[in-house]
Amino acid sequence: MARISLCVVVVLCFVRTGASEQGKAEVDNGLLPGNLVPSHYNLELQANMYDTTEPPFELQGSVEITFLCLEATGNVVLHSVYQIIEVVSLVDSWGLDVDISGVALDAAREFLTISVDSILLPGEQYTLRILFMSNITISNGSNGQGFNAQFYTEDNERRYILWSELAYMQARKVFPCFDEPRYKATFDVILLRHPGMTSLFNTHLMNTEQREGVWLADHFATTPVMSTYLLCFVVCDFPHVEMSTSNEKLVSIFISIRLTFCDPNAQIRVYARREFIEAADFALTAAVAAQEWFEQYTALPNPTSKTDHIAIPGKGGAMESWGLITYSEEYLLWDENWSSPHHKLVLASIISHELAHQWFGNLVTNAWWDDHWLNEGTASFFETMPIMQDILGMDPSKIQLMRHMFRELNADKSITQGPVMIDMESSTGRVPITFAQYSKKYLTRFSYSSVVSDDLWNVLSEQAALEGVTDQDGSPLDLKEKFDPWLQQRGYPLIHASWDPVLKSINLTQDLYNPRERYLPSADYNYKWNIPLTFGDRSSSASVPEGVDIWMDREDSVVDGRKLSGSWILINIGARSLCRVKYDHETFGGIIEQLNKNHEAIHPESRALLVDDVIDFERNGMMSAVDVLEILQYLGSEMEMMTWKQVLPAIDFFSLRLRKFPETWKLFQRYLRSLVDPVFERVSWYGQQAEERLT
Ligand SMILES: [Zn+2]
Repeated sequence: MARISLCVVVVLCFVRTGASEQGKAEVDNGLLPGNLVPSHYNLELQANMYDTTEPPFELQGSVEITFLCLEATGNVVLHSVYQIIEVVSLVDSWGLDVDISGVALDAAREFLTISVDSILLPGEQYTLRILFMSNITISNGSNGQGFNAQFYTEDNERRYILWSELAYMQARKVFPCFDEPRYKATFDVILLRHPGMTSLFNTHLMNTEQREGVWLADHFATTPVMSTYLLCFVVCDFPHVEMSTSNEKLVSIFISIRLTFCDPNAQIRVYARREFIEAADFALTAAVAAQEWFEQYTALPNPTSKTDHIAIPGKGGAMESWGLITYSEEYLLWDENWSSPHHKLVLASIISHELAHQWFGNLVTNAWWDDHWLNEGTASFFETMPIMQDILGMDPSKIQLMRHMFRELNADKSITQGPVMIDMESSTGRVPITFAQYSKKYLTRFSYSSVVSDDLWNVLSEQAALEGVTDQDGSPLDLKEKFDPWLQQRGYPLIHASWDPVLKSINLTQDLYNPRERYLPSADYNYKWNIPLTFGDRSSSASVPEGVDIWMDREDSVVDGRKLSGSWILINIGARSLCRVKYDHETFGGIIEQLNKNHEAIHPESRALLVDDVIDFERNGMMSAVDVLEILQYLGSEMEMMTWKQVLPAIDFFSLRLRKFPETWKLFQRYLRSLVDPVFERVSWYGQQAEERLT
């Protein structure tokens, strides 16, 4: 039968209209039906910021989406919001037109449903073409949504930058698309601009073509297979600084994997507005070092041949768009005249975090946002790794403790899904799983696709089996079983520990740590956790042992402590597991005595956690202030910044209460001087060249 009808010319604005009955049934779960899978987009965007002086600016666009039909259907359902749909056409793989009987926008679900007269056939490939237009407005909030305009002032002149923020379901606000992370495809993009402006996209510029009038069309290289939320479009007149990575070791890997995408000497650029470009040097150095580190660690080159980092005026946070990472100016720029030394740590962490996403999140992506911790937990875990030691001279594990562990312990927050859990996973088992090997396997197996939590557990468990890491009874280590309670429940445990030095046994019980008794829903695991624990005594608490001593598997335990001796023991050496520990009176007394005698017999991270524990216990009425002041007495010899950082708010808290009592206040001040004076004498007001950065 001959096919007729070339295309449907429609003008659909933001009206709520219904999908056809068949379409409605398919989409009622809120997700796209899953019967059509996009493979490639040709997208052209023309943002006109030149004919008017103020937003809104008109955006004209066209998109051509090639998709495969998996199940017979009479509807093409995809996402679209805020666009005026002007022209729609559909062709099959022979280029023959498919009749369109209706086009409907469902504003509530942000669906664009295109109904066809015939049925689309399984196994067939189709190409949908849509012309559309919309407006670009001033950023809505610090993170923006879709394509945004942001003004700034230069030479007393109001200027605009156009930039997109498509996380996590905002691509549909720029162009019609299958806007769920599982729908990965390649993209060929053309951005139009006027002379004097620069357009940036995820991939490098291939060529520029002269269009009508003064318009120039920038054609960019085809992207890797990727999710829509990771696309990024920028039009600006910012200058940049640049360097190249030099991972010579990766040359052979680049050649054997994807020569078209990869370059062993990837170009790294940092863009900022003209008046701040001199503050981009630190970011450039950190970005090159971190990218080289990740490429060597994963043995996988970043498939975009370049990575741009751009500081956007008025933007908040940072976004890991593949090959074009956007930041607030505060998070990318550092200048010795107006930035603190500490701010370098913030910048380095954020740059590393966003670069970690290029692999963990961009190359391998959560299938849906309920598993978003797979992206964020891993990127946060890695944010302290690549450059702390080499560039900042800081110990990554100490930064990890300060940035993540203390934040989770002290937050009235929801489910523990983050870097602390990844850290627990990485050090789990009798010996730790080689996390680099696991990472390579995970990334290689799921490259250019999407994952759910079980995929991570399976690869971790496989790696554990391969390395002979077993559960405590010698059975295979089932990481899903171990960590599901951490994923499914809010909060974290409080362990009560009691040490019997005569019988050499440790009694352990666990409960939800909920001193403020906030409401929590009932949970399948009854607020018990599988906790990997290590133990130490006076001779073995200064360094973190490999692996774990026991798993406290959602029940109370009596642990054989024959390898331990002395009047006290320590649990969770190096603060690797997310929990607080309350010791029996005698053991706690022994720990205080040890801290005062020689605090270095206890691992620095454990000291910081001990101090944080007792401060929180006192604040919640679980420990007397006298006990806390007694343990803090050793601080006169404590040189670790992370411990002092936890103590300072507590001192404020005590001061507020004691100021009202003049005699006691005087005594407290004398007590404080006894803690601070010895440290001040050693550290002094000014930093020393050879001093550890976290002193
Ligand atoms: Zn992130």
